[in-house]
Amino acid sequence: MQCKKKKWDGGQCGASALTGKKYCALHSEPGRAALLGSKGGRRRTVYSPEALKDFPTPKSAADLRDLLAQSIIEIRAGTLDPKLANSISYLGVGFLRALDVSEVEKRLDALEHEIRNSPANKDGGR
Ligand SMILES: [Zn+2]
Repeated sequence: MQCKKKKWDGGQCGASALTGKKYCALHSEPGRAALLGSKGGRRRTVYSPEALKDFPTPKSAADLRDLLAQSIIEIRAGTLDPKLANSISYLGVGFLRALDVSEVEKRLDALEHEIRNSPANKDGGR
C-alpha cells in the first residue's frame, strides 16, 4: 500500500505505507515525531541519571576537580544534561568558596588556641 500523503505539487508520496497505516514512516504522525523530533526537526535527548558515573560527596577541591572533569566528558558524550552541568558548575563555585572559608576558620581556631595557651597569657589573660 502506497503512502496517501499529497505532495506540494499535487502528486503523491512514493514511499510505501507502514503496515496497517495510511502513511509512510515519514508522514505517519508517531513515526514522523520519532524521525524528526517535536521541535525544529531535532531529536530531543532524554538524559537519565543512571547513565552518569557515580561519585562520592566531594570533600576537597581535588574531589570537585575530578567531578568536573568527568562532567566535561559526559557533556561531550551527550549523557549529561547541559542544564544539570550548569547547576554543577554553579554549585562548584559555592563549594570552593565554602572550602576556603572553612579552611580559614580552621587555621584561625588553631591560632586562637595557640595564643590562649602561650606562657605570656597563662596568668594575665582574660
Ligand atoms: Zn509518505
